Formats: sequence, C-alpha cells, structure tokens
Amino acid sequence: MKAVRAMLLLLFFIGLQPTFNSQALSTTYAVDKLELLVYICKGPASKRYHETPNCQGLRSCSTKIYEVTISDAKNLGRTACGYCY
Ligand SMILES: [Zn+2]
Repeated sequence: MKAVRAMLLLLFFIGLQPTFNSQALSTTYAVDKLELLVYICKGPASKRYHETPNCQGLRSCSTKIYEVTISDAKNLGRTACGYCY
C-alpha cells in the first residue's frame, strides 16, 4: 500500500506543479504580450505609427495597413502619431 500512497503523492505533486508553472508562465507571457501592437502604413510618406487602424492619419495611406509591435515600429524609425497618441 505504501507504493500506492507514494504514487498518489507523486500524482498530487505532478498535478500541482504544472498549475504553478503555467501560472508563472502565463504571467511572463502576459508581460510579453504587453508589447503593444501599433499600425503603420508603408507608403513612402509614412513616418508614424498609430494606436488604431482607424486613425485619421492612416486614411490617406496608399498601402495596406500593417500591424506591428511598437518596438518594430520604432526600429523602422516611426514616431508616435499626433492624432491617436
Ligand atoms: Zn494615428
């Protein structure tokens, strides 16, 4: 019977660990997901990134509106749009 109890104990721990781990992981993941998504136009005159794809600054966009992370937008030399930020 000892083996059974040990097994149950083990299952108990195995059952608990992933809960803790996944909570920790999802917290980390959530922090990663805080990387803001912004919207940019890839037209030649576009130098801004936008908080919303519906921004008036994007209305005259001649290309598709792209969804990128804010750090990608900054890497592309974009600055925050004056209308939506
Ligand atoms: Zn904007």
